[in-house]
Amino acid sequence: MVKKIKQGPKVNINQPLIIAGPCSVENYDIMDKTVKFLKELGIEYIRGGAFKPRTSPYSFQGLGMEGIEILEDMKKKYGVKIVSEILDIRDLEEMIDSIDIIQVGSRNMYNYPLLKELGRIKKPILLKRGISATIDEWLNAAEYIALEGNTDIILCERGIRTFENYTRNTLDLNCVPVVKQRTNLAIIVDPSHGTGRRELVKPLSLAAIAAGADGLLIEVHPDPDNALSDGFQSLNFEEFKDTYNKVISTYHCV
Ligand code: PEP
Ligand code: MN
Repeated sequence: MVKKIKQGPKVNINQPLIIAGPCSVENYDIMDKTVKFLKELGIEYIRGGAFKPRTSPYSFQGLGMEGIEILEDMKKKYGVKIVSEILDIRDLEEMIDSIDIIQVGSRNMYNYPLLKELGRIKKPILLKRGISATIDEWLNAAEYIALEGNTDIILCERGIRTFENYTRNTLDLNCVPVVKQRTNLAIIVDPSHGTGRRELVKPLSLAAIAAGADGLLIEVHPDPDNALSDGFQSLNFEEFKDTYNKVISTYHCV
């Protein structure tokens, strides 16, 4: 039985938590262009993977610490907050000062030693749902972090694997009200990985907000067709702006 975690992160109830940015940190210029655009739009939380958990070992694996340094430059230049994924606990010390929210990706949701270690630090943790994790397994993963003392946990629904293969994953919006009923944790939704198709990101963003999600994680790239990872699900600037504006008006209606 999953315990109801008592203390969640402080989410601003007047505005959704929007985390946006490219799938991977590819180079300084792409990051600079993207952060400038997002910051001007009012986005405070920027994402970008420096350590990438790619399905194929031959795909771009991320820039590693060089990527973290680019994120640190963005933070200094634009005053934004940074969200980035940790793959290996051995990188924690080197990346912790630059990252404001540490992401645990889908593939690491079951990595209990990693979760326990992140439970001992004082940084918010974005815990993505495992690719085929039940809601109970996901909440137990959150419990692993919380039990060590860190209750600053944001859950992120990113789609689960089902028999449906038209979309990359099946976005399980059922879990939003379930998590709300069973915990005090914030939950955001990632329609980019949840659908794998950029034309579905806007409708599913709006559906997530209507279902009560506290925010969204959306992949944005200046030139999605040439992105080094997840371009097919990334929005260009114009598409992001349109989605964001509709998300904000929907948020204030529900
Ligand atoms: C990501 O956010 O780029 C990512 C790899 O996500 P997930 O762990 O949900 O696949
Ligand atoms: Mn991605």
